[in-house]
Amino acid sequence: MNIKNVVVIGSGTMGSGIAAQLCNANIPVTLLDLKTEISEKAKKKIFQSKPPLLIDKNKINNIKVGNIEEDFHIIEKADWVVEAVVERIDIKHKLYEKILKSRKKDSIISSNTSTIPLKILSEKMSDKDKKDFCITHFFNPVRYMGLLEIVSETINDEKKISYLKNFCEENLGKGVIICKDTPGFLGNRVGVYAMQVAMTEAIKMQLNIEEADAIFGRPMGIPKTGVFGLYDLIGIDLMSDVLKSFLKELPKSDVFH
Ligand code: NAD
Repeated sequence: MNIKNVVVIGSGTMGSGIAAQLCNANIPVTLLDLKTEISEKAKKKIFQSKPPLLIDKNKINNIKVGNIEEDFHIIEKADWVVEAVVERIDIKHKLYEKILKSRKKDSIISSNTSTIPLKILSEKMSDKDKKDFCITHFFNPVRYMGLLEIVSETINDEKKISYLKNFCEENLGKGVIICKDTPGFLGNRVGVYAMQVAMTEAIKMQLNIEEADAIFGRPMGIPKTGVFGLYDLIGIDLMSDVLKSFLKELPKSDVFH
């Protein structure tokens, strides 16, 4: 196993960030989306991003762009395919079916899902494909957030997971933790719960957004965005999907409810 060529599907916030970090590591990467214009726009955004996602802007051409209809054949050459499309299981399932038909033998396929369990993402796959499929949960902004959660199951090829972990640590500079397939994995299970508590308490205490963010920020050892600002950074639409997913996956007895 040797990761020399990567395809990232979905060129939104996370797909762009992952592609940029691969570019920083001199790994050729293709960013695909529904339309080439979307990935092209993403590439421009990567180039202009502040704080910069790229270490060296001259390397931008390590990133190629395309769309999932005309350029899908590129999957045949990829050692690692990262799915970073919207948090919708129907869309992800359809995409996996297509990827698994064309992928290079033994390649790694992973999802950047925030909350959908691995066993649900892979429920329609053969055991052979399940071996090579895992979750690689990067955080936003990818270049600056150290944590990467890799979620695997006993069916996974352990050697491959261990190779991927080393690759992401050494080449992408991540601190990797291997997580069990539990709702929200580790970071979101704790972090989203904390954010929900902070928001609920802020509303109960009739604090305005600026006041709440001033407290639930640097003074508590939390990024200076604060809690409401962090919702904006992550994406309010995405947070709504994340919360729905927690409500669905966590047992009624869980304190989250
Ligand atoms: P986003 O909305 O910014 O981007 C999603 C992209 O997927 C869009 O460009 C959209 O055009 C594209 N897309 C939709 N359907 C597609 C398809 N069938 N084929 C190809 N492209 C398609 O979303 P995001 O914030 O980048 O999130 C992507 C994934 O990463 C989600 O699973 C999300 O839960 C997860 N995630 C997000 C964050 C975050 O902070 N935003 C953090 C960690 C994980």
